[in-house]
Amino acid sequence: RVDKQDAAYFDSYQCLEVHATMLADRVRTLAYRLALMRAYRLVYRRVGIDIGCGSGILTHFACEAGARVVYGLEAAAGMCSVAREFLRANGHLDSGKAVVIGCRAESLNELPCDGGRAEFLVSEWMGYCLLYENMLSSVLDARDRLLREIDDGFEVQMFPNRARLFIAGYTCGDQPDADNSSVLDEDMDSLGRLYGCNMTPIVDAIERQKRSRPSVALVEDTSHLITDSTTLFCLNLASLTKSELASGQATSGKFQLDAIQCANLDAFCLWFDVEFPGSNTRLSTSPFSEPTHWQQTLVWLPRSVPVSIDSRLSGQVCLCPNRLNCRDLDIEVTLLPVGIKDGLVESLDDIDAA
Ligand code: SAH
Repeated sequence: RVDKQDAAYFDSYQCLEVHATMLADRVRTLAYRLALMRAYRLVYRRVGIDIGCGSGILTHFACEAGARVVYGLEAAAGMCSVAREFLRANGHLDSGKAVVIGCRAESLNELPCDGGRAEFLVSEWMGYCLLYENMLSSVLDARDRLLREIDDGFEVQMFPNRARLFIAGYTCGDQPDADNSSVLDEDMDSLGRLYGCNMTPIVDAIERQKRSRPSVALVEDTSHLITDSTTLFCLNLASLTKSELASGQATSGKFQLDAIQCANLDAFCLWFDVEFPGSNTRLSTSPFSEPTHWQQTLVWLPRSVPVSIDSRLSGQVCLCPNRLNCRDLDIEVTLLPVGIKDGLVESLDDIDAA
């Protein structure tokens, strides 16, 4: 089953449109370029490894930043030839500065260089809501087997070396209107008024289904964020272990959010950022930053919860690879009864959102 799932996963990366989307995301791609350029001391004349090189773009950036040689590992067979052609066209392949190895990173035991290990690792492994696809697990595995520690820990060798997940409360409605709790777009919402019959059961079922799965969406109007925001967790990619990641232990966090508006709480909005070593370069997918292809993730509550200006929301979020398909991500949100900012607790219905 796992092999089949992996085959389907790598097959999805044979699709060049997926790579085109990532390449067209300038915020993403330029952040890596800037990070590698700025950290030239950590890259210059060093041996690098690019986990999941895809089109080869990050291998190219690492070569540009002066790496001695960069090994691009890629499991999607069709992408290896694209990467080789791209790197050849840019003068890195024939000069021996870039080498594309077609394999799963997990199946390579050593690199064809002195000592068999690289000195820095670059990878763009982030999925929706940071962890969707679980590619980080492959990167940690490669770190432990294919990276030579040149410092205390891998602190300055991992590009990126830190990742954080953030949360804020989200409302669909423009107005704090108790009746306006629909999470559906206008077309769907107007279904209820068609054909002169009672459509409520159908519309309710559509709404329930919509709320049961997270949405990837761009929060263009940040006035839909009705609380302040906070960090759920921070991952140190130099020291995080594969088992901490697999158990969800490292990817859970408690939150306390203060309302900044009186509105219906419909969802929690999640986003992430990553940081690179040797410079202050940060790649953020915040709704307050320039949009990226990751957009933001909305995790819906089963039903709206009214929030007033003095409300305080507390709870917990756990992210964990799905047990049946580790490429899927389970997001569990627990919201405690809504409290008020001065610490008094006001009891509302218990809410269990998963
Ligand atoms: N580095 C490229 C592509 C990033 S997408 C860029 O920044 O544009 C992630 C790529 O990693 C995909 O091409 C996917 O096939 C590859 N990949 C994911 N897991 C891998 C693994 N375990 N071993 C090798 N390649 C992997």
